[in-house]
Amino acid sequence: MHFNHYSDEGAQLAAAVVNARLDSPADIVALAAEHYLLLERSPTAEDVAGLRRWRTELARVVDAPTSGERIEALNRLLARGTAHPRISLHNGPPHVHFRPDDVPPERQFAAITAFGLAWFLTQRGLHRLGRCAAPDCDVAFADVTRNGRQRYCSPRCANRQAVRRHRAHRSALQ
Ligand SMILES: [Zn+2]
Ligand SMILES: [Zn+2]
Repeated sequence: MHFNHYSDEGAQLAAAVVNARLDSPADIVALAAEHYLLLERSPTAEDVAGLRRWRTELARVVDAPTSGERIEALNRLLARGTAHPRISLHNGPPHVHFRPDDVPPERQFAAITAFGLAWFLTQRGLHRLGRCAAPDCDVAFADVTRNGRQRYCSPRCANRQAVRRHRAHRSALQ
């Protein structure tokens, strides 16, 4: 089975890389499996180091304070992470990659997350990437919701904040 990652999934994978534990090649295998990404090679310690550096670049996009700086950071990602597009036959029907065939996992992640984020944010809104608004959480997320107003990383954080607001309201009334 092949998934086209150069879209919403690429943006979600980018956020997942920012949040991921990246201590060993097994962490890369787990991350790829969670996002249905088929790795062409087994990850090595070099991929771990490379992906950790790439995560810093991705976080610059997440934490860019203005649209202009976000676009600059995205352009840096595209310059570093993608190659000219080419059609691959490696798996299933022909499809477009923004990288050569048969590259290490680090480069697969870089191409997918750079192009995926750039495509997603320009198509759906530059604001659709951020960190959780809960005061004790800084998990990054790509907002793929219909209305594009996601504030928390997860229903869990949204519910916790709702409970907090409710308690604060009640104690204000007492
Ligand atoms: Zn492919
Ligand atoms: Zn959160």
